[in-house]
Amino acid sequence: MPQPFPSSPALQSNLEVAGRLLERFRAHPLGHYINGQAQPGSGEHFTNTTPIDNTPLGVVSAGTALEIDQAALAADAAFPAWRDIAGDARRDLLHRIADAIEARAHDIALIESVDTGQALRFMSKAAVRGAENFRFYADRAMGARDGLSLPAEEHLNFTLRQPIGPVGVITPWNTPFMLSTWKIAPALAAGCTVVHKPAEWSPLTAQLLVEIAHEAGLPPGVLNTVHGIGEVAGKALTEHPLIKAIAFVGVSATGSAIMAQGASTLKCVHFELGGKNPVIVFADADLDRALDAVVFMIYSLNGERCTSSSRLLVQDGIHDEFVERLKARVTKLKVGHPLDPAVEVGPLIHPRHLDKVCGFFERASQGGAHIAVGGTRHPSFNEGNFIVPTLFTGASPDKAIAQQEIFGPVLTTMHFSDEADAITKANGVAYGLAAYLWTKDVGRTVRMTRKLDAGMIWVNSENNRHLPTPFGGMKASGIGRDGGDYRFDFYMETKNVCIALDTHAVPTLGKA
Ligand code: NAD
Repeated sequence: MPQPFPSSPALQSNLEVAGRLLERFRAHPLGHYINGQAQPGSGEHFTNTTPIDNTPLGVVSAGTALEIDQAALAADAAFPAWRDIAGDARRDLLHRIADAIEARAHDIALIESVDTGQALRFMSKAAVRGAENFRFYADRAMGARDGLSLPAEEHLNFTLRQPIGPVGVITPWNTPFMLSTWKIAPALAAGCTVVHKPAEWSPLTAQLLVEIAHEAGLPPGVLNTVHGIGEVAGKALTEHPLIKAIAFVGVSATGSAIMAQGASTLKCVHFELGGKNPVIVFADADLDRALDAVVFMIYSLNGERCTSSSRLLVQDGIHDEFVERLKARVTKLKVGHPLDPAVEVGPLIHPRHLDKVCGFFERASQGGAHIAVGGTRHPSFNEGNFIVPTLFTGASPDKAIAQQEIFGPVLTTMHFSDEADAITKANGVAYGLAAYLWTKDVGRTVRMTRKLDAGMIWVNSENNRHLPTPFGGMKASGIGRDGGDYRFDFYMETKNVCIALDTHAVPTLGKA
């Protein structure tokens, strides 16, 4: 890899280890993993590149309807045995997968950083969180089928849950390892089998996940991975009649396409889609903590994060001073090689995404906003997809930079006068994923959280996740919820059983 980057012993050491780990992907095409076996695929390939300098990391098999069919058949054949395995056996196996992820967390983080451009300081935590996702659902595997007892006067009703069958999981390129575990672990805990189609811009760690799962003892066919282009492999998965449900994470327009593609086979769908999340800072807030959270929630993970707080609403009165302090922080963000542990912002995933993000710089000026910081590609690292972390000020709420998901380290700031104005501006977008509120006023907190259109609201906090809580969005941000027991509602059918006590009068017809 050419290195225009300032060197450090830690970066050198990470580069050496990453280089060794990536050798296998450079040496051999990355194939699919179907029915417990690596499969080369039908011959079509695409090249996978690193956003650090856009050089190839290897070639990847481009799955077609053929491989999707093989994977769906394998998942279908494996389903009865996996469904019927005892809950404690499923629990123990998922814990073994979590152990193996923990043992390889550093490798996973290094590969993910090179494949996606996201800084190692965040990817290390994401890999560990992948293990936590498996542990969390491992511990719930035994109770996943439990239901309710609903007694009536002359009948006893009770409910139980059973896994829905083979499911498709389609994941995006931002934090791909963690997000894949977030979808796959509960499916396996519920007793479903899975066909996973990872994003074509970040295929590598999906391969590690399926290999780790099999090394830990997962039976063949329970988790199958088919690489490929969304409109081909992903589409075939959403149309396959043996696949009962699709758990999808990605852009809202793809969600619409998947809904249409799955209509004829009546697919159940669960969508986690885009966001344009507001962070609302009132004058009475703890402004030091608010500033830290504002910077973290848009510039960490390169801003390529569904819950990023990409719109900042600051109350009149504190607006100018808060934005001045913000400018100073944004200017000092450390951009560089994602394997450098000191780096805070790495390159964007792909040249196409870089073009999309840069397109907003021109639109910001045309829309009357001021580019207070950044607004250009990074002058030091021309080979890769680096931009200068960017701050737009004085944006009008109806313009593209305040309405559309940019999905980069780019923050759009606006001001508001009072609660009503803040609600109008916060809710005035197509999305409704997350919102962040900063105030010390308890009554205002309750009033605002009642009115905000967002599936998740954090008060005086950045995005802090507690795994039992519901995760998901309203409006164009999604359908359904992840987290806790909510996930089992999607991956399982609920059955009601009604048993008579033999005391009620059964209606009689045809006796007269
Ligand atoms: P994308 O929609 O382009 O792709 C996501 C996945 O869908 C990829 O695997 C892709 O190959 C596949 N795909 C594309 N077209 C398809 C089709 N017609 N049929 C089936 N599959 C298809 O999204 P992306 O650019 O990879 O991801 C970024 C988006 O994901 C952002 O909008 C972000 O907000 C969103 N996201 C949301 C959440 C959440 O929890 N709400 C979390 C992470 C990312």
